[in-house]
Amino acid sequence: MLTATFGTAARWLLDFALPPRCSGCGTIVSQVHSFCADCWKGIEFLGNSGCSTCGLPLYATEQTTCGACLARAPRIARTRAAVAYDQLSRGLAIRLKYGRKIAIARTMARYMAPLVNEEGDRLLVPVPLHRTRLWSRGFNQSALVARELSRRLGIATDPLVLRRVRRTPPLKGMSYVQRRKIVAGAFRVRNKTAVAGKTVILVDDVLTTGSTAESCARVLKRAGAARVELVSWARVVKPSQLMR
Ligand SMILES: [Zn+2]
Ligand SMILES: [Zn+2]
Repeated sequence: MLTATFGTAARWLLDFALPPRCSGCGTIVSQVHSFCADCWKGIEFLGNSGCSTCGLPLYATEQTTCGACLARAPRIARTRAAVAYDQLSRGLAIRLKYGRKIAIARTMARYMAPLVNEEGDRLLVPVPLHRTRLWSRGFNQSALVARELSRRLGIATDPLVLRRVRRTPPLKGMSYVQRRKIVAGAFRVRNKTAVAGKTVILVDDVLTTGSTAESCARVLKRAGAARVELVSWARVVKPSQLMR
């Protein structure tokens, strides 16, 4: 017990005593929760570009909202991701699960925070893990990011409001219809009064097709949420990556 406490304290002290390191490659950098020049050049920041609703790239003929969103408004009123999914952003997502969790969550939150909507009565809600996965890992990586976003922006976060009632297999390589079927009914709202009338901002680490988030949005809306948005760290933007 004492050794564990000492170990935690020592690591905590080391984190402050040691120079900050690049979140991408580990090189020493001048600023905490940042990237070195080489990694910086390789990162594709998505920011506020693309469709005002879904955030995907617009065609030249489209103005602010893409044709698909105009034809059928998605349940998630606004989707934003900090960076494109690639080797570097994937590396961060993996280390958030298995490595230096707090430092990585802070780095992600730093780049996600400017993308969070500033209007409405906002509540940050991490996309939940199923309890068996939560037990084996010990924590939900998206909840860590939500907590850091909450600290940065001064918005409340509630990691318990949504519950994943069914464990779902990885959705990679599945069609849109297959994905929708698998995630349908996988989530429940635990506390309706917590979300009623709120602008719920879902927080995720990696966004692929958005089927999971859509399923969350469906139950949140049904529970009375005024609006549902989504902010994630990385987003798959190349269609070829979805099928791998
Ligand atoms: Zn680097
Ligand atoms: Zn769109």
